[in-house]
Amino acid sequence: MMRTIHPGDAAYDTERDGFQQAGRHRPELIVAATGAADVREAVAYAADRELPIAVQATGHGLVSTAESGVLVSTRAMRGVRVDAQARTAWLEAGVRWQEVIEAAARHGLAPLSGSSPHVGAVGYILGGGLGLLARQYGYAADHVRAVEVVTADARPHRLTPDDELFGALLGGGGNFGVVTGLEIGLLPVTRLYGGGLHFPASADVLRAWRDWTETVPDELTSAIALIPLPDLPTVAEPLRGRHVAHVRIAYTGDAASGERLVAPLRQAGPILLDTLGELPYTESGAISNDPPFAHAYTGASAMLGDLDVDTAFALAGPGAPVPVVLQVRHLGGALAKPSAAVIGHRDARYALHVVSGLDGQDPASVRAAHRHLTKALNSSGAFPNFHYGPATAEQVRSAYDPDTYRRLTRLKAAHDPANLFRFGFAIPPTPGI
Ligand SMILES: Cc1cc2nc3c(=O)[nH]c(=O)nc-3n(C[C@H](O)[C@H](O)[C@H](O)COP(=O)(O)OP(=O)(O)OC[C@H]3O[C@@H](n4cnc5c(N)ncnc54)[C@H](O)[C@@H]3O)c2cc1C
Repeated sequence: MMRTIHPGDAAYDTERDGFQQAGRHRPELIVAATGAADVREAVAYAADRELPIAVQATGHGLVSTAESGVLVSTRAMRGVRVDAQARTAWLEAGVRWQEVIEAAARHGLAPLSGSSPHVGAVGYILGGGLGLLARQYGYAADHVRAVEVVTADARPHRLTPDDELFGALLGGGGNFGVVTGLEIGLLPVTRLYGGGLHFPASADVLRAWRDWTETVPDELTSAIALIPLPDLPTVAEPLRGRHVAHVRIAYTGDAASGERLVAPLRQAGPILLDTLGELPYTESGAISNDPPFAHAYTGASAMLGDLDVDTAFALAGPGAPVPVVLQVRHLGGALAKPSAAVIGHRDARYALHVVSGLDGQDPASVRAAHRHLTKALNSSGAFPNFHYGPATAEQVRSAYDPDTYRRLTRLKAAHDPANLFRFGFAIPPTPGI
């Protein structure tokens, strides 16, 4: 029997809780789903009553909160099934990357996971999925083989690349239904040369990294983050209380070639901490060392043709109008190759995002500062996964090329005319809205 939780029940707060603490869904009913049958029943219940439906696995990517309706919580759907021969894995809706990484590693394989192993694999893939090996292999969404989804009419579908809705889900997020599971391709990667170089934050380091990205092969994917670190014992001693530039590197070649490739970057400034070396893919979360603890944050993204270092440093460095963590990822390589997924801006050279903690900050002025920054950097559009918190219609539209966006609104009108799935990076059922 489907497990349901109502306001006032002891489990209500824990089941709706997630990584993002800036808001929480407040549904009239939570369905703690354990499988596809529960999801179908939950969607049928909501559709019969025209109730909106939110979906949550981990809460890392909460966009807007449901103040009524039904929340489908997938956190208990944690199955991973690896087919080593076919180099694929079947992922249930609530599985986190670390669980997939470990299951795949037992067969000498790896998924296209991202910086944080705690993120939900399915939510990440539906938003595109820009991972550690992205320049070599492309977006995680490019490697999906099949998707099982329950649409707003409560019908289950198994979709493959020939189905129009298949590509729309991959980059189109949770707009078209509840995905109960999907099949991904795995790659023969067991180890990396990677880790981080930490410098004192400066425009010169940002510039040196940008120029260096022009010289590296597709087997090397990197990012840079400018981070104001607190003066706390949990922060490595050389970085404590400093504004640092953290270059993150993942390279699938051997360590000696990795050292050679990175050598010019070491001249970018004084190195405060160097964690580069060989590591098993199972420890790839150490490269970015993203915060594992829940907190309140908001953020915006910008796909860029070029990186204007001085503007980025002025608006997102130590002198920024609001405190931000800036992150820029190097794109190109396999990311530029089209697939069925509806990911926009394949020709962008960098994906930038800014994230600000919301403790003691006014969310509206933080979001205005983020919008100002992405505009000043000539953003060609947003990347769905790197948008945190409420999104304007323009931000959503900007993630896709115009024809794709029109197609997505048409598909939305056909598959979810009552707009039951409206709490993610929301595509409306009419293009004008
Ligand atoms: C610390 C951190 C690191 C990150 N690193 C990366 C990275 O390296 N690369 C990258 O591309 N992204 C990254 N992200 C972004 C992340 O991929 C998105 O926030 C993603 O939406 C998280 O999915 P989730 O299931 O964990 O989160 P949730 O908040 O549970 O889900 C987010 C949204 O996804 C949709 N969704 C989730 N599951 C389903 C489902 N089964 N069916 C339909 N819709 C569903 C819903 O719209 C939901 O609101 C990172 C985020 C954080 C906070």
